[in-house]
Parts: sequence; structure tokens; C-alpha cells
Amino acid sequence: MRILLVEDETPIANFIRDGLREEGFAVDVADNGRAGLEMALGYLEEYDLLLLDWMLPGVSGIEICRQARKENTEVPIIFLTAKDTVDDAVFGLEAGANDYIRKPFAFEELLARIRVLLRSKDGKQQVFSCGDIEMNIETYRVTRGGEPVELTQKEFALLEYLLRNKGKVCRRTRIIEKVWDINFDHDTSVIDVYINFLRKKLDHPGEPSFVETIRGVGYRVNDEA
Ligand code: CA
Repeated sequence: MRILLVEDETPIANFIRDGLREEGFAVDVADNGRAGLEMALGYLEEYDLLLLDWMLPGVSGIEICRQARKENTEVPIIFLTAKDTVDDAVFGLEAGANDYIRKPFAFEELLARIRVLLRSKDGKQQVFSCGDIEMNIETYRVTRGGEPVELTQKEFALLEYLLRNKGKVCRRTRIIEKVWDINFDHDTSVIDVYINFLRKKLDHPGEPSFVETIRGVGYRVNDEA
């Protein structure tokens, strides 16, 4: 899951970015309105959610929201705002935002709201499976044959992406875009390393891997694994 964060106050931006990365999200940060607008419109299909500060130098969060909404009616948008009158909140929602959160806020509250929006976007599907592997996004639990398996945040995010796209070929460039982020140096060999971590934890020794390598292209999870 990839999130665009547009926030000009560096300490707040870093706090949110680090927290979301620890939760396994890929996060791109723009520190002014103009860059935020460019990234939002330039990569809109890549983003699963936009987090927009309201007051930004250059272009306001409201304006980014309006323009992004014109291009994509689906992407969830949350405002971060110091404004706290009802009128302002209504104005933000009328501009096309799904939700807003007032500063200062607890990270857990922001995370909860993000998860709610991503869940409704996915048609509420929270449990994914493949063979005897089962993953519950909400409880953050992965089991194989009913036995819990401990995954790191990145392993979890990678497995989630693969299972959400079960049966489809997941291209390496696409995996990098969705699971890592824009500042990543695009050395896709890191994916192979993480696929191996997942195989070590989830495959049954002596049996075919749950994730198939599509040579030169990427990976695919099949249901009969
Ligand atoms: Ca601001």
C-alpha cells in the first residue's frame, strides 16, 4: 500500500512517515503544495491514499484535493488540519476528502482512520489466503496450516500485495512501486531477497513454493499451492 503525504512541517511529516513505514506502508513525502500537486497528479494511480495538510506553501491541500478528485474519484483522501471549526471540516469534505483529522493527533488515531478507508476501498476484504496460508490484515496475523508465522513489516506488506493479486503476474516494477517507495533506488533485487524470506517462512520443505517465479518479469501466487 502506497501513501502520498503532503506536509510542510518537517517534524510532523517525519513522524507520520516513520510511523507509517513501520506499519509496512510505502510513503512518499512532498513538503510543499506545488510538489504535492505534481506527485498527486503524476502518480495518482499508484497511490492507495492521500494525506494532505490543509495549509501549505504554494498550493493548498484543498486545491490538491479538488484536482486529484477530478482525476480519480476512488482514491481515499484524508486532511490533516489545525483548523477546527465545523465550517472548515465541511469545506474539506465538499472538496472531495473522505475524512479529516485535527492536529495534534495520536498516531494510532490516524492509523485507524487510514485502515478504515483502505478497508472500504477494498470492499472490506480483510482475509486473504493461498493454500493453507491465511493472512488477516486487521489482526495482522499470518498462519500456515493454522500455525502462526512471524513476519517483519516489509514481509507482511509484500505478502499482502501478492495475495491481493493472487493468480495475476506481479511485475517487479509494480511490486517496488506498491511495497517500497519513490525514494527507493529501484534495485529490484531487494524483492528477490524478501521473496526468499517469505519462502523460508511459508513453504513446506520439498514441495513447490507458494510463490512462482515468472522469469524476467516477477512473481505469481497460485491458489493450488
Ligand atoms: Ca502546514
